[in-house]
Amino acid sequence: MSGEGHDDALLDAIAKWLARDVKPKVMKYEHDDIYPAEMVEQMKELGLFGATISEEYGGLGLRATTYVKIVQTISETWMALSGIFNSHLMMATIVQKFGTPAQKQYYLPKFATGEWRGGLGLTEPDAGTDLQGIRTQAIWDGAHYVINGRKTWISNGKYGTHVALLVKTNPQADPPRAGMSIFIVEKPGVAGVEKNGFEVGQKFDKLGYRGIDSMELIFDDYKAPKSQLVGEDSGEGQGFYMAVGGLELGRINIAARSCGIAKAALDESVRYAQERKTFGKPIYQHQAIQLKLGEMATRYEAARLLTRSAAEAYDRGDRCDMEAGMAKYFASEAGVENSMDAMRIFGGYSYSKEYRVEQLFRDAPLMCIGEGTNEMQRMIIAKQLVERNKI
Ligand SMILES: Cc1cc2nc3c(=O)[nH]c(=O)nc-3n(C[C@H](O)[C@H](O)[C@H](O)COP(=O)(O)OP(=O)(O)OC[C@H]3O[C@@H](n4cnc5c(N)ncnc54)[C@H](O)[C@@H]3O)c2cc1C
Repeated sequence: MSGEGHDDALLDAIAKWLARDVKPKVMKYEHDDIYPAEMVEQMKELGLFGATISEEYGGLGLRATTYVKIVQTISETWMALSGIFNSHLMMATIVQKFGTPAQKQYYLPKFATGEWRGGLGLTEPDAGTDLQGIRTQAIWDGAHYVINGRKTWISNGKYGTHVALLVKTNPQADPPRAGMSIFIVEKPGVAGVEKNGFEVGQKFDKLGYRGIDSMELIFDDYKAPKSQLVGEDSGEGQGFYMAVGGLELGRINIAARSCGIAKAALDESVRYAQERKTFGKPIYQHQAIQLKLGEMATRYEAARLLTRSAAEAYDRGDRCDMEAGMAKYFASEAGVENSMDAMRIFGGYSYSKEYRVEQLFRDAPLMCIGEGTNEMQRMIIAKQLVERNKI
């Protein structure tokens, strides 16, 4: 079944799952940094690991407009949970857009079921925003590409099976982006080999975004056959563009996660402002609190509409780096501001781990950093503005 009826049924099933199986556990898992293994199994059953993978390969083939509703709904309950399938879908999107027919047949059906899962390996200790500065290399030895280097902060790095890895296949290329490629590398054990030069390093202990594994990955003479190079011969030198192309959907997804945080902060505040009394009346009757609630609701609604508009542009197949950048920038700032306003509305109780707002406050800032920092988003928006309005 496909179409709007199917999308509504899926959203309904996700809402029920969140209420039944996720909400009661979030606080404990988040504070104790517990990987939600059983929720991952439930996400597989819901088809979330194949949400944007084409039906031809066993995915749900959802439009971006439906995908953002799902991501927002899940993030209203627990943003980190959406990271487990969102990073995975970024890897899948790269294979779906740029892989050879054989690579699509090989990877996508198992990515869609979640049997094989993973994420995106771009960042290195010395290169995050400046991706052209990465040092990981894949050098052809006549039979294989031999990969050496180190990645950092990689989501799903511990519990995933595969990573879409950005490397330099020609470290001398000028500009450097012309010598970059993406490989789908796999953990030892996936193909029955016990040691293959791919090691998982330290796990990061984080301020927020807890529960999901953020890892260091180490490559020491990992031998990749040409079949692991995305696009094979025509993919060499295209990795930078593939990574940046995948980020459009990634940015829309960060915007949707941010809407989830902004909405959760608003909902918590609207409820608390009616419960908490000072000077003989509920605090929502004080004008200072009303001003905050009014701003929070407006910010959330503006963020939601920008996110929907970017998703619609993506679904139409339009170039949408400016729209995705605007949505990501505005929604993530809205998430931070709404979580901060919620902290103020909750007063001293906001500092207690018994209330959800302290978690929202810790999760929100990541949205300003991931998939291109908000500094970069504004620069992308400005460049596109000039590009589209040349005199
Ligand atoms: C919890 C978490 C999960 C992550 N998951 C992943 C993942 O799964 N895969 C992955 O590859 N990466 C991941 N990352 C890394 C993330 O994408 C990077 O942190 C991000 O791209 C920023 O890079 P950086 O930290 O190296 O900052 P830097 O690039 O060092 O930037 C530092 C500051 O300088 C600013 N800046 C840099 N260059 C410019 C410029 N030209 N003009 C103006 N300002 C500039 C930045 O905006 C920022 O404010 C994750 C990070 C975190 C914290």
